[in-house]
Amino acid sequence: MQFYLATSFIFPRSLRFRLFTLCFLTTHLPLLGYIVWGAATGRIAWAEFIVLALATMAGAAGALIGIGALLDPIHALADALDPAEQSARKRGGPTLPEVGDIISRLFHGVRGAAVATRERIDELNIAANEDALTGIANRRGFLAQLDALPLARRRGCIAIIDLDHFKQVNDMLGHDEGDRVLADFASRLSSQTRRIDIIARWGGEEFAIFYQDAIEDEASWSLARIAERMRREPVGMVGDQPITFSAGLCAWRGGPVMTAIGQADEALYRAKKSGRDRIQRAERPSTPVYG
Ligand code: GH3
Ligand code: MG
Ligand code: MG
Repeated sequence: MQFYLATSFIFPRSLRFRLFTLCFLTTHLPLLGYIVWGAATGRIAWAEFIVLALATMAGAAGALIGIGALLDPIHALADALDPAEQSARKRGGPTLPEVGDIISRLFHGVRGAAVATRERIDELNIAANEDALTGIANRRGFLAQLDALPLARRRGCIAIIDLDHFKQVNDMLGHDEGDRVLADFASRLSSQTRRIDIIARWGGEEFAIFYQDAIEDEASWSLARIAERMRREPVGMVGDQPITFSAGLCAWRGGPVMTAIGQADEALYRAKKSGRDRIQRAERPSTPVYG
């Protein structure tokens, strides 16, 4: 780089001409040396001088053509990075950008592309794990968060929650109002659970909660508090009845999570069958791994 800057006084706007000059001078050094030596000693042999001059010219021509060809990809790169450069060249203006400029632009281009790619991957990851309607995790995000928990935190209770008679909400109030109820219910779950609990839209009008490090009584009380507020401050009314939910609950001690979820689902089924608007516990807790 120092040499590059030190030689910038020769053709400061054109690296190509600078390289050609340097190449021309260096390829002619043997010939110049021979002329100086011949003049000093008076022993110049013209046949040798002509052969050396022809060889020097051929070498210089080869080197100049080679340098020109090697510089072409740099032009192409400069054009790709900055189309204005290309039009400047076509107009006959100052052409080849400084090598430092090209490297700097290339570096910024690559870094910009890497940042954009990283942001796009993050967006896609969020979209893949988040429910668009409610903004909470979707089923995939819920399972991924459980999966990411360290062993010591894989214990607590899993609740599967289903809004009661939700088809009637859509039928009587319309699908948009149904969507609004789902979003408000998700906000309720977020505001009435702890930060360490994981909530998700399990699908349709079903939701899931992982109550971390909670025993069944604690999870059941939490769900009862949410149910009580649903009656006191309804997220929506169907006729003169507030919208309610049923829930199934199962302890999870770090075993296969789908087993615990299956048992919570079975408890939810019993809650529905026995009249809705209630919480049922799994009959058999999921297989403990430890504790
Ligand atoms: P149950 O008490 O037995 O759960 O009755 P239900 O009517 O809630 O249950 P069902 O499974 O028969 O109906 C669920 C309804 O939820 C049907 C479906 O149209 C509605 N639903 C599912 N996803 C959405 C959604 O994203 N938006 C709206 N507005 N409705 C949805
Ligand atoms: Mg359902
Ligand atoms: Mg339902």
